Parts: sequence; structure tokens; C-alpha cells
Amino acid sequence: MSIPVKDVVLPSTIPKLLLEKHTDYLVSYGTNKDDYTYCMTEHLRMSGMYWGLTALDLMGHLDNTSKDEVLEFISRCQSDCGGISPSINHDPHLLYTLSAVQILCMYDALDVIDVDKVVKYVKNRQQPDGSFTGDIWGEVDTRFSFCAVATLSLLGRLDAIDVNKAVEFVRSCMNFDGGFGSKPGSESHAGLIYCCLGLLSITDSLHLVDADRLGWWLCERQLPSGGLNGRPEKLPDVCYSWWVLSSLTILGRLHWIDKKKLLEFVLACQDAETGGFSDRPGDMVDPFHTLFGLAAISLLEADSVLKPINPTYCMPENIIDRLGVTPSRLDR
Ligand SMILES: [Zn+2]
Repeated sequence: MSIPVKDVVLPSTIPKLLLEKHTDYLVSYGTNKDDYTYCMTEHLRMSGMYWGLTALDLMGHLDNTSKDEVLEFISRCQSDCGGISPSINHDPHLLYTLSAVQILCMYDALDVIDVDKVVKYVKNRQQPDGSFTGDIWGEVDTRFSFCAVATLSLLGRLDAIDVNKAVEFVRSCMNFDGGFGSKPGSESHAGLIYCCLGLLSITDSLHLVDADRLGWWLCERQLPSGGLNGRPEKLPDVCYSWWVLSSLTILGRLHWIDKKKLLEFVLACQDAETGGFSDRPGDMVDPFHTLFGLAAISLLEADSVLKPINPTYCMPENIIDRLGVTPSRLDR
């Protein structure tokens, strides 16, 4: 007798990649500023912009947006302490600081913010044990370690922090299953594994990972529907296609999963009417899952119509090349 798995059933017809629909969906998202969803997402506006703009760039349509409006918004979100907030008059946080820096790198426009102050803000978040707090309120999480290191590396300023201690903290969050959690002793989770591998790839420290053991845990996230979950006993979700696939790519083990079945699952999460991707087939679409659906397809298909994406930064590879940043990867 087999144990029943939590999973979904895919629809009988699966649409092909609906590029035009996704472009229209993202360009019109947020143009109606009275829209309920728009108002309810103010607390994460900066990340929302990063998701939408990166998705458009992957499809070759970054020009369909108002660059000047985006740059002005970002410059107004930098606070006196140097950190960047999700929206004007909100509190700064490392999550939004990274999103803003990623957008500015895509537009090649870092000069609209005070970079030295950003560096100082990030440096001030590092704790004596090497970990990072997300903001001045002091919550520690490996997500924030990734945000700090990714931000500084994009700015070419990793020397501002104690990199060895940052790596040591992430190593202390490694579990017996090869995965990583949010802090020492916390359960392994695909999103946090991505953050920790991302940090280790930027700092050229991937030799610290048990790649086969971790690769095995990541492959076990694939369910009979082809979709991937983030932890055992959870439903599949398009965003985990990204966290798991990018991790497997960094580990040089992308070929360990069934790519064809995963591609079917991701394509089944498109809304053929409105454009955009949802977490699971039939759910409401949003810019977050739209980016990670497209990003997953970019990794899955070597000959994709989408731009190649960098698995560490979740940004188009041509931007990372232009910046001259070279995160490491393990060989197959
Ligand atoms: Zn999700």
C-alpha cells in the first residue's frame, strides 16, 4: 500500500507559452492605481516591481515600461540611513534594498541612489556571529544573509562586510539532510536552500555543500504531476519550480529531475484568458508567480525564446555578464 501524496491533477489541455498575454498582463498591472490589489500590495511594491520588470526583461520587453517613473520611485524610497523601503514613507529593509539594486542594475542606473549609503546600511545589518538582520528591528534569517551579500556583490562592494563570518553563519544552518533553514537548527526549506546556495556561490564557497545529498533532497520535491513542492508533504507550487531548479543548477544537477513533466506543470499554471502564472493550475495569477514561472522555463529550456537567467541572482544573464559578477557553480 502506498502513502497518498498531496498533489494536483493537470488539465487535459495545456497551453503553449503565452508570451504576448504575459507581457500585456504585466504592463497593465499597476496602471490602475485605485485597483484593490494594487493598494493592498503597497507594503511590497519594490519587490513587485522587481518581479514584473525582470519578467518583462526575460521576454525582451523591458522597454514597454516607464523607466523614468521607475527610477524616480526608487530614488524616493531610499531613506536617510541608506536602506531602501518597499514604498515611499515606509521603513527600509534588506529585501527591498536588494530588489531596488536589481532593478537599477537592469536599467544600468545605479547613479539614482547613494550607493555608499546603501553599502553602509547593509554593513550595519551584520551581527557579530556573521548573520544579518533584515532591518533595525533585529530579526535574523538566512534570507537576509543572501540579500546582503547579493546586494553588495552587485555593487562590487563585498569587501564592506566580513564575508568569512557570513559564510560561517550559513554553514551553521546546514542540516543532516544537506539542506538549509532560516537559522541554526531550523527545518530545511527550498526557498532558504536557494538563498544559502546563492550566498555560497557568490562567495565561491560551494565546496562546503554535500551536493549529492542536497541534490537528492531537491529532486524528491518533484511530485507525480511534475510540479515541485518546497518541503515534504506540501502541495506543488510554481515558485518552488524556481527555488528548486535554481538550486539544482547551482549544484550542477539540473538533469536529476524530469524536465518535461515539470515544464508541463509550469505551462499548466498560465491563465490563458488574462495572462500571468498562478501557484497551481486554476488559481489566481500574480506577478510573483509569473516571474518564477518564466524563470523556471528559462532554466528548463536551453533553446527558450526567453533570455537565459542567472540562477544565483534571478536576473537576466546578460546583465550579470555586463556587471562582471561571476558566481560559481558546481560541475555536473
Ligand atoms: Zn508560490
